[in-house]
Amino acid sequence: MTDMITRGRFAPSPSGRMHLGNIYSALLSYVSAKHKNGEWIIRIEDLDRQRCKREYADKVIDDLHWMGMRSDAEIVYQSDRDAIYEAALSKLSDKGLTYGCYCRRADILSARAPHESDGRVVYSGRCRHLSDAERLVMEAERKPATRVIVADKTIDFTDGHYGHQSMNLACDCGDFIVRRADGNFAYQLAVVVDDAEQGVTEVVRGRDLMDSSHQQIYLYNMLGYDVPQFYHLPLLMSETGHRLAKRDACTDMGFLREAYTKEGLIGHIMFLAGVIDRDEPLTLNEAVDMFDWENVRKDSGITISSQELA
Ligand code: GLU
Repeated sequence: MTDMITRGRFAPSPSGRMHLGNIYSALLSYVSAKHKNGEWIIRIEDLDRQRCKREYADKVIDDLHWMGMRSDAEIVYQSDRDAIYEAALSKLSDKGLTYGCYCRRADILSARAPHESDGRVVYSGRCRHLSDAERLVMEAERKPATRVIVADKTIDFTDGHYGHQSMNLACDCGDFIVRRADGNFAYQLAVVVDDAEQGVTEVVRGRDLMDSSHQQIYLYNMLGYDVPQFYHLPLLMSETGHRLAKRDACTDMGFLREAYTKEGLIGHIMFLAGVIDRDEPLTLNEAVDMFDWENVRKDSGITISSQELA
């Protein structure tokens, strides 16, 4: 029996220039897949048409190429793939797993990945039990979002880096949105459909998306797809305790490309991640060769000194 080839991916949302936290996730996803002689692909997650721009996507790709990381398959844009998400949604609906929801809250955030700091709320299931007559009244007022009905049972998985994870979606999340009222598909559905359809076998990303993995595993199961291996990464944090963000201008790729050579930046990221002991330049190939998940820091956050952020 031949082992299945590893396929990793980096799936950025092009809402601005990448910062250190993004390029760190990109690099770690790359070295993890390549260390196993695998493939690595780039997918542009531009479902949120208001925030994402083609010019940002071009910059993201240019920055990845500057680092030497190239997609092993044609780069896919989620904004081109509505028909594929539509088909997946129909599969869920055919199983009686979806319903229209007229509540406005949550709808706003659901096209993008719900990072921990976005403070998600558990949905009460209010619209699940509306009668047909009630639906008709509400329909006259506004279009519904679509939610998927979750099961009241625990979803367990073993994260490749942090080990056993467990969550009961009914208690900790509630029925969640797969399509927004404005017609945009939600991150949770699109990311699952794309990772599955693109043959992704491992997902490496920040641990702020750990909780989302349970929702995604549920969708993998309901859609009959194989679940990839998840590896979550410690987050890069500022000394004041916030997750590095696009507002930290001094960590954006424009700045980093001035401040570092590409080998300098690769070495710096591998040092921050704990893979090497000294902050010294590394080629991409060296980083791939020496990569070992065992050496990646396990703390939930890695603090970047204010000196570096200044
Ligand atoms: N596009 C998502 C984001 O920028 C990441 C999705 C993922 O890695 O699953 O947060």
